[in-house]
Amino acid sequence: MEFLNTREFAQQLDAKDKLAKYRDEFLFPHVNGKQVIYFTGNSLGLQPKRTKAYVDEVMDDWAKLAVEGHFYANKPWWDYQERFAAPLSKIVGALPTEVTVMNTLTVNLHLLMVSFYQPTEKRFKIICEEKAFPSDQYMIKSQVKFHGYNPDEAIVEIKRRPGEHNIRLEDILATINEVGDGLALLLIGGVNYYTGQIFDMKTITKAAQDKGAYVGWDLAHAAGNINLELHEWNVDFAAWCSYKYMNSGPGNASGVFVHEMHHNDPDLPRFAGWWGHNKERRFLMEPNFDPVRGAEGWQISNLPVLSLAPYLASVEMFDEVGMPALIQKRDSITSYLEFILHEIDREVNGHFEIITPAEPSERACQLSVFLHGEGRSLFDYLMKNGVIVDWREPNVIRLAPVPLYCSYEDMYEFGQILKTGILSHKK
Ligand SMILES: *Cc1c(COP(=O)(O)O)cnc(C)c1O
Repeated sequence: MEFLNTREFAQQLDAKDKLAKYRDEFLFPHVNGKQVIYFTGNSLGLQPKRTKAYVDEVMDDWAKLAVEGHFYANKPWWDYQERFAAPLSKIVGALPTEVTVMNTLTVNLHLLMVSFYQPTEKRFKIICEEKAFPSDQYMIKSQVKFHGYNPDEAIVEIKRRPGEHNIRLEDILATINEVGDGLALLLIGGVNYYTGQIFDMKTITKAAQDKGAYVGWDLAHAAGNINLELHEWNVDFAAWCSYKYMNSGPGNASGVFVHEMHHNDPDLPRFAGWWGHNKERRFLMEPNFDPVRGAEGWQISNLPVLSLAPYLASVEMFDEVGMPALIQKRDSITSYLEFILHEIDREVNGHFEIITPAEPSERACQLSVFLHGEGRSLFDYLMKNGVIVDWREPNVIRLAPVPLYCSYEDMYEFGQILKTGILSHKK
């Protein structure tokens, strides 16, 4: 489609947008009395207006029923998490038994590594990506050390080629081949948090499994953002946080995927707790652990229902909208933002560079922009003028035009503010 950098054109796109009505379902912060342009839904999603009722419901049930709420609340607490299985499985392309919610992301990756990282003298290596999200780097290193291996020998990072911003699939596959049967686990972010690059999870999963390794994906930036077919792709395990694209609130619960092929494997080690125990017999308080045959078999504690309530509100909204519609608008609004950025860059004589892949199939809802020159002060200018973006050292702003609540007019407006900002800094 031919785009135009005008307010009228952006408004026409909004008028045709089938998801436009969802914008009103969210609470936006205000700066200088004006609703902000929110580009940080990849860090913390906005609060849906419907969420409060879900939390109030739990508060009311607790007030009226106290302990009886476990079984007699409107949505009983003892199996509250089961409400996620159907809608969440659609979001990540799984069978309902393959997903559950619990804990937080890094904690879940640690728990999943208990099952899927069992190094031996011959096979102890982990492949991850260079400059992975710091929490993932710390986690992987600490797991390797916990098992008595040396991180310098055990961890193999896939590097970017000099001068390139993104990692090439051929380099990932070559690394897998090099490590060969020394490979115990491949664990990468499905969408890179810094550049927004999407990895070809299907091809990479198969290549690493062909070497006899387990494959896990950190889907922090992928869940609720891109098309996922975790079951079809034969992924061993995955986990994601829910507070980024999934709008569940700060620090909220994580989602977990464990492939069906592992559900009946009694030899797979895991850390156990009563909430992973056979549901029919959970309250008989028996001494021996009999795991639920499914992702729920990795549960440990009874669940923080108050924090699951906002996550449930969000998952039900995603179910209503559907990933295909969301992805369609995501591609369109991201392309429009890209167009606006190129237009402004031309008008100000080349000031920045988009480091996210230009190929739409290799990116999702994020454009990372490398600012040449006075980046940090431009960032401050944007924030003061009601554009909420995210700053990453050394000189990158990340922009996520989240399809559920960003408008095309936001993109146009942002371009105008950016241009004024750059010109005022050039003086
Ligand atoms: C956001 C993010 C995390 C955050 O982990 P928490 O355990 O939820 O604090 C981890 N990994 C990646 C790749 C992320 O983007």
